[in-house]
Parts: sequence; C-alpha cells; structure tokens
Amino acid sequence: MAAADLDPGRALADLRALRELTEDERGAQRVAWTETWATARAWLRERLGELPVDVDTDEAGNLWAVLPGARPETVVLGSHVDSVPDGGWLDGALGVLGGLEVLRALAAAGEPPVTVALVDWADEEGARFGRSLLGSGLATGTLDPDSVAGVHDRDGIALADAMAEHGVDLRAAPRAGARLDRAVAYLELHIEQGPVLERDGLPVGVVTGTAGVERHAVRVRGQAVQGGGFPMDARRDALVAAARLVLAVRAAARDERSRATVGAIAVRPAIPTAVPGECELVIDQRHPDARTLATMLSEVHDVAAAIAVDERVEIDFQRIWSIDPVAFDGDLVALAEEVAREVTGTSARLFSGALHDAAAVASIGVPTVMLFVQSAAGISHAREEDTAPEHLEAAVATLARLTDRVIARATPRG
Ligand SMILES: [Zn+2]
Repeated sequence: MAAADLDPGRALADLRALRELTEDERGAQRVAWTETWATARAWLRERLGELPVDVDTDEAGNLWAVLPGARPETVVLGSHVDSVPDGGWLDGALGVLGGLEVLRALAAAGEPPVTVALVDWADEEGARFGRSLLGSGLATGTLDPDSVAGVHDRDGIALADAMAEHGVDLRAAPRAGARLDRAVAYLELHIEQGPVLERDGLPVGVVTGTAGVERHAVRVRGQAVQGGGFPMDARRDALVAAARLVLAVRAAARDERSRATVGAIAVRPAIPTAVPGECELVIDQRHPDARTLATMLSEVHDVAAAIAVDERVEIDFQRIWSIDPVAFDGDLVALAEEVAREVTGTSARLFSGALHDAAAVASIGVPTVMLFVQSAAGISHAREEDTAPEHLEAAVATLARLTDRVIARATPRG
C-alpha cells in the first residue's frame, strides 16, 4: 500500500464511533449473541460496504471481509468486536478497526498481489456462555461443537439457540475451517491488558506466544464444628488449609513469566460460629513454557499433600481446563520487531498471559504473530480501559507496515 493512503486517525474515529454506539454509563456492552453486538456488526458491515471487499459470515458466525488480490494466498488480519459486559472500548475492537483501516489503505492502492482478509471472530470473550475463543475455536477445529452443545447462559438459554437467533447453526460450524485453507499468515493487533509496555515506556510490543494454562477445582474437606466450643489444636479447619494452599500457589509462580491466581473460593457452612468444614477453590496457573507450567502444578500438588497431613484435611484436585502454550511464528516475530522499531523507534518481545484468537489460528499451523499496544495502567475489561491516541495511531501504522511486509513475502518473485 502507499503510505499516503493510510490514515490511522480514521481508525481512531471509527473506534470512537463504535464506542458511542455500544457503550452505556457502565462500559461497552457488545456481548456476543446479543442485540448490541449485532448492532456493532451491522455498523461494521456498513463501514466495510464502502470498500471493494466481499463481506459475509462463515458457518461459525465469524464476519469476513475479503479484498481479492492477484493470487489466492491470503494474509488474514483479525480480532473481535465482542466485549465482556461493562467492558472497554479497545479490547478486540482495536484489532478489527485497525485492520479495517489497513484494508482501506490497501484497497485505495488497487488490487494487492495477494488476497487480504479481515475477520471479526465471533464470541472471543465467552462472556455469556463461558467458552472463550468460540468462533475461532470452531473454525480451527480446536473446539468441538459437541463440547458446547449443552452449554446455557444464566437465564437457561442454550448457546446453540442464541447462535441460531443470529443465523448460525452450531453443528455446521466446523465448515468455517475452509476459510483458513489459503491463509499464509495471521496478524492480530490487541491492547496489552497488562502494565509491561507502559512501565517500559514502549508504545508497541511484539507477542511471542500465549501462555499455557492449568485450571483446577480444588476441594478441601475438614470437619465443621462449633467455633466457640472447639479447641484450636483439635480442629480440622478447611479454610485454614485452603488459605495455606493459596499462598503456596503464589509461591510456585516464581519467575517473571509465571501467573497464578486463586480467583474463586467458597466456604461451608460460612457462618461466624462454625469452623469451616469444606472449601472449594479454583486455581489458575499459567506459563509460556510447558515444562515450567508442569513444575508449578506439581509443586502445588506436593505442598497440598503436606498441608493435608498438617491440617488433617483431605485435598482433591480436579482439572477443569488446560491448554498448551502456543508459540507464534519465529520469522514473523522477528519481522514484526523490525517493523515496530521502524515505526515507533523501539520494540520489545513479550508473551501473552491472556488467550487470544491468534492462539487458535497458530495452533493449526498458520504462521501467526500479534502486536500489543500499551494499556493505560494495564486495565482492561472495564470502562477505564484506555490507550493514548498517539499510541493507538502508532499501533495501527505498525500493523499496516507489517501487513505490507507480509504481503511482499507471500508474493512469489518473478
Ligand atoms: Zn480481546
């Protein structure tokens, strides 16, 4: 594309317009399979309608805009316009609307040498039905439709029915995979959702991959007894054991790239006069290196066994969910770093502790890389989510130049 055709300010204006359209006083409300989400998509379709692109929705509900090139090999840009309830204006939307601006600039320069597509993945957040990366998971075959067939929201509405209301047949969703048959690269721009880039004074960074996750439900069983009457040394207090376990989880997250969270804990009987007889907690451990992640988990198992003996309780682990670390394409990471340095003067490599659609795409072998732009105070999934306008513009410019380079690499010489 000609650099003159790119106007990152237009992406900013689009982001503000989408915010205006889909935000209330609590934040963005673009939850997938809701009316506001459909409104956001209709708005996006209108913007895409101004370009010489083919727009349609695949069998998994992902929205595609394809700018046909001289060759069928396809460079794919993508992210998601869906948000969590009371979410921010940039999470997902930046990647889609930044990609839209790149498409605009490419289209203005005439037919590109290879095909370029923009995808708005459906239901990345899993906010309503609890399954993240839904559209990208179904399209890449990393998510089996049968595994979500029985899933309901809080009101008892089945995921399949909510999808059907938006014209998507869950059983047919895997057919969406054909869209990626010609993909030679996948590029995704996203806010960092962490404090690292801001702390280091960098507008843009390059993501080397996404962390592996081990998520376990842990049940601690002691004995509920009367708190006023029972001596301290004879208790089998499930909450005291659980509290020690929480500290062990944190202690096992030793290096800079480790993440470990106990985000949920339930206590029974949960009254002031009873020693807790039972606790249930959920442990979420993450690391970009599979062996380190396995070590973190086994360390917690070992400490739990010792705590169980010490506190005379039973502790059982049940794996709820796990995913292997995903490494992005080494050549694309190096290229993205070079481009980020050219556009912003600096660059850095970082991994993503959070999951993104890019992980699903990378896991089926499509060369993939992500760009992160700094997030103010690292806050996301909240109305306060923000990034300085100049950094947003630098990020879109970086995505555009990276797309150009990737197109050039995908175009056979001669
Ligand atoms: Zn996101």
